[in-house]
Amino acid sequence: MSDLDELYQEVILDHYRRPRHHGDLPDANRSAEGYNPLCGDRLTVYLKVEDGVVKDVSFQGTGCAISQASASVMTSALTGKTRAEIQALFDRFRDVVLGKGSPDDALALGELGAMHGVSQFPTRVKCATLAWHAALAALDGKDAPSVSTE
Ligand code: ZN
Repeated sequence: MSDLDELYQEVILDHYRRPRHHGDLPDANRSAEGYNPLCGDRLTVYLKVEDGVVKDVSFQGTGCAISQASASVMTSALTGKTRAEIQALFDRFRDVVLGKGSPDDALALGELGAMHGVSQFPTRVKCATLAWHAALAALDGKDAPSVSTE
């Protein structure tokens, strides 16, 4: 395992053990649930959106370490962004977890890049992207479908 892989592993474990933005968001005005039947991951993303910008975010749910850590890392990245910015970030993130990006692309994503290792386990890609699908569905004001895209 390279130093970078070890660092990424630490980021994932840290977010899994001490999830950020975890819990209810009383003044949320958008929410959506995501469910990954392949793994049993289930989570709800809550957003407070004002003037098209995410002001606050949280998530709740249960699932594997990848899904929970990815949700925690994602929520740390959404505040202050518009839907278009979040979609653009997700597109870059998805390329990295699908193994399309270079190591530099992963690095450029900061903690989000820690999910890079998922690309070696195709069945886990849906775990890593679940929170994103839920967040985008919440921004669109509808419930996320069971994740079946990619
Ligand atoms: Zn999972």
